[in-house]
Amino acid sequence: MKVVLASRNRGKLKEIVPLLADLALDLVTIDELAPDCELREDGATFEDNALAKARQAAAQRHAQDGCTSFAVVPPPGPGGSTLIGQNWDWLEGVHGHTFVLQARRKGQPSFVCLTEAGIAGGKMGVNECGIGLVENGLASSHDGRNPYCKPFHVRCREVLDAERLEQALRPVTDTPRTCSANFVIGAAGGEIVDIESSPDHVSYLHPEDGIITHSNHFLSAGHGESLLEKISPNTLHRVDRMRHLLEPHRGALSFARMRAAAADHLGAPFAICRHPDPSQPEPKRTMTVGAVLIDLEARTMHVANGPPCANDYVTFGL
Ligand SMILES: [Zn+2]
Repeated sequence: MKVVLASRNRGKLKEIVPLLADLALDLVTIDELAPDCELREDGATFEDNALAKARQAAAQRHAQDGCTSFAVVPPPGPGGSTLIGQNWDWLEGVHGHTFVLQARRKGQPSFVCLTEAGIAGGKMGVNECGIGLVENGLASSHDGRNPYCKPFHVRCREVLDAERLEQALRPVTDTPRTCSANFVIGAAGGEIVDIESSPDHVSYLHPEDGIITHSNHFLSAGHGESLLEKISPNTLHRVDRMRHLLEPHRGALSFARMRAAAADHLGAPFAICRHPDPSQPEPKRTMTVGAVLIDLEARTMHVANGPPCANDYVTFGL
């Protein structure tokens, strides 16, 4: 078992490490785990401070996350589809344990989403009102400041409960958060808003030339220090690479073009289409565990069960 010693006090570390030496624990210092994490000690008791630091350390722990997302708004004029998509990069061990949830409801919008077994809520998806969602993991030096906030996955599900874009933004913005995340939220008819969120701040990105792309680092200021690019520098090229792949085809973006962009291998194995890196220890290996392309006008979600270079997309509707 790995245990994080969430202290930067060298004297304390010198005392604590020998005391725990006989236990079968893999001790990791906070500097090894998250060197830029600002540990806060503003609780009223030692217990409060210990818990706060444990939460901050835990909030930094999703650092191997990946994901490349995009949204494309059709040019002005009749026809055209509002499209969003994502390659969901996560631990190799999660592959095969994801599923598509189709919920037909009365009184609230029916929806279809992709998520992982055992997780409440729902991740990327679309509902019958044409509201859709894809997202990216982000990490900030402020993560963990606000304990016990509404979980990320519950916010995702509430986005898919919305009937209009304005309602869909509120689950992300209305209350403080524990962790950072990026939400690409769209509505049929060509509305797209990208919300970068950290514990106490949200910022908005709007399409440039009809396109938004995002990966795993903050693109706007005010969120503290952006951390994932330090652990996974590949995030810095994936966001631009996805834009370059989509841009020439805006207005005539076929399914085949989108699949080709999602299956891109520049920078492999940490490409847009990610495959496990055999040089990493098995529990740390990541891959594209699922890929989605969502047509908000048609209310359809196309899902590949694994890297889209090797897995056909299957279409799910409501
Ligand atoms: Zn691939």
